[in-house]
Amino acid sequence: MASVTFRGIVKRFGGLEVIRDLDIAVDDGEFVVFVGPSGCGKSTLLRMLSGLETTSAGEILIGDHPVTGLPPKDRDVAMVFQNYALYPHMTAAENIGFPLRIQGVPRAERARRAREAADLLGLSDYLERYPRELSGGQRQRVAMGRAIVRHPQVFLFDEPLSNLDAALRVQMRKEIKLLHSRLGATMIYVTHDQIEALTMADRIVVLRDGRVEQIATPAEIYRRPANTFVASFIGSPPINLMDCVAQGGAALPAGAPAGVALPLAGRPAADGEAVTLGMRPENVVLGPADGADHPGKVIYTETAGQDTALIVDLGWASLTVTVRGAPPLALGDAAGLSLPPDRLHVFDTEGRRREPA
Ligand code: ADP
Ligand code: MG
Repeated sequence: MASVTFRGIVKRFGGLEVIRDLDIAVDDGEFVVFVGPSGCGKSTLLRMLSGLETTSAGEILIGDHPVTGLPPKDRDVAMVFQNYALYPHMTAAENIGFPLRIQGVPRAERARRAREAADLLGLSDYLERYPRELSGGQRQRVAMGRAIVRHPQVFLFDEPLSNLDAALRVQMRKEIKLLHSRLGATMIYVTHDQIEALTMADRIVVLRDGRVEQIATPAEIYRRPANTFVASFIGSPPINLMDCVAQGGAALPAGAPAGVALPLAGRPAADGEAVTLGMRPENVVLGPADGADHPGKVIYTETAGQDTALIVDLGWASLTVTVRGAPPLALGDAAGLSLPPDRLHVFDTEGRRREPA
């Protein structure tokens, strides 16, 4: 096991810079999730770490060892891909043992270690099957077995669950986490799915356009997003964001009639400064329209099990509010919203989080 350090990493494809001076430090034994929209550079980072791709500048360390110039076989990392990349003409056991064959490990030990990996993944009864005889989840487990069998210093996962159906994704999420706690290994897991990031990570690295937007625990990322990008990328339904102008210690929402003012809750802002206010849907308080801070009308409802999301049109903004249990209002009903000041997020003109003075 080992820590992983990306230091001043730059990657260019021709003239296109896709990773821009990036620093990330992953601790020994940590489960870190790199999350960001498609094309932000997640796979490129993993490929540079595993040696499948060169770096244009900067240094990558595994433990204390710079690996930037080393070929993949000398890096002691194992990667699990979205498409499994299994050999169709090999059984599950042969697929799992394959990296050991390449290393010249004797047949008996190969078989023993393949069985050990298969036991860990609940694959013992499937070892003689070919990939075409396995379900998607089992194939994904074989791909993980092939990584485990090498006892690598670092495990890399590149969107390993994207090809699975929703129920299986939830189960495999749990299995990968259990695997992490059993092996205690350093794992870097890449996904575009914010739910996977929130549920699996010790720490999350949010990426956009080859840059780090925030590195923090899931709780911190959710409660104190560093900027409007992180705030809207993480959380479902997404956070409500309102463009405002600061005036006399309050925030006046764009397009709102005179008299509508939102609190700045202690954030310093000069008169005339553009600010963005944010509030997560579960923090917006829904009530009757009469006497409400912000009266409006329900224009959409969506119930999933015990949770309902409602969109309330206030005239100057449409805000999403989520409630537990039976929804108190229906489509077309008059509704009133209030926005508790202690739940407000305030972002400056550049979209950066602003804390109370
Ligand atoms: P992600 O995995 O986050 O979706 P990638 O790391 O695959 O993103 O890609 C990051 C950017 O680099 C994208 O703009 C992609 O088009 C570009 N890119 C990736 N690989 C190559 C390549 N071999 N040649 C040129 N551009 C590439
Ligand atoms: Mg990718």
